[in-house]
Amino acid sequence: MIPYGRQDITQADVDAVVAVLRSDFLTQGPVVPRFEQVVADHVGARHAVAVNSATSALHLACLALELGPGDRLWTTPVTFVASANCALYCGATVDFVDIDPATYNLSVPALAKKLAQAEAAGCLPKIVVPVHLCGQSCDMAAIDALAKRYGFKVIEDASHAIGGKYRGAYIGNCSYSDITVFSFHPVKIVTTAEGGMALTNDPALAQRMELFRSHGITRDPAHMDGSSEGDWYYQQIELGYNYRMTELQAALGVSQMTRLDPYVARRHVIAERYNALLADLPVTTPTRAADAYSAFHLYVIRIAGSDAVPARGTVFDRLRAAGIGVNVHYIPVHTQPFYRALGFSIGDYPQAERYYSEAISLPMYPTLTEQQQDKVVGALLRALIP
Ligand SMILES: *Cc1c(COP(=O)(O)O)cnc(C)c1O
Repeated sequence: MIPYGRQDITQADVDAVVAVLRSDFLTQGPVVPRFEQVVADHVGARHAVAVNSATSALHLACLALELGPGDRLWTTPVTFVASANCALYCGATVDFVDIDPATYNLSVPALAKKLAQAEAAGCLPKIVVPVHLCGQSCDMAAIDALAKRYGFKVIEDASHAIGGKYRGAYIGNCSYSDITVFSFHPVKIVTTAEGGMALTNDPALAQRMELFRSHGITRDPAHMDGSSEGDWYYQQIELGYNYRMTELQAALGVSQMTRLDPYVARRHVIAERYNALLADLPVTTPTRAADAYSAFHLYVIRIAGSDAVPARGTVFDRLRAAGIGVNVHYIPVHTQPFYRALGFSIGDYPQAERYYSEAISLPMYPTLTEQQQDKVVGALLRALIP
């Protein structure tokens, strides 16, 4: 089976992890701060907080921005459930904004319209979470302008997008957001097995995320109630979690980061080749958004079933039967049973649902060979026969 995504692990990666295994610290040592520095420097953010997953990073970001009961967080329905769940962890409520039918990212006109209605009704969101789907940036300048007008905070869910750019600068520099989150799950662009990171230019937000990452405990006398009682002393000043990343994971991350740009460049070569090979097929290939250089985490095509073209489900089954590990990203979050129980219904976000009914993610990862890619395209050609 040719998978839709997979990690690339080199001898240098293995050596880096083994060196940590033989070192004094398996956790809470020097490598996690080094990894944070490497990522912050690469993308141009002032602060980075490494954690055990992007899901944890999203939760920390919401906590740092003081999301709580009575508050609202808005995101796109076409995302992994974690982009929305982070609000519920904080006791806030979630709502969605339908997608742009061309880029599949959260639609800025739909956001503007919903904000105007929410302002009139007195129910504006505290946080909006744009998701850079497939690695392609949302229209962040427009979202930032709305954030300033309506007074909400912005968390970029850039789980797909490390190495991608917006207006020529790396995603993660937080020029148009309060916090940006990356995922290092093995299917993503660079991996630490499990892992994530939150980036920000605001030192107070970084400090709060560090606090919540490790039980809400501080060793800094400046933040204590009263004075320190000695070198052993710490105080718990918030209800935090254990969301720490291990030294092993960070060592893998530092090693992987040396190949970030070549990985994304290779993904572009694969995408261009798919674009050319699929040009005459009855499928919609990805649209390039203005100002965006995608990280190409995913290469999604759309298949609108008709008399001449089989339905997406049929094409999917035929590709899987042919040994192509295609996937679908994503089932719209509001259609999940858990979210329907919260009051959402099928039909609420028509563009998202239409996209979902047509989307297939083709194999896309840096070590995918031309031969494998040709096999994917050949299988797709046959799968599209009515
Ligand atoms: C993968 C992913 C997450 C969660 O990442 P983890 O590191 O697995 O917690 C969140 N949002 C999006 C859009 C993702 O693709």
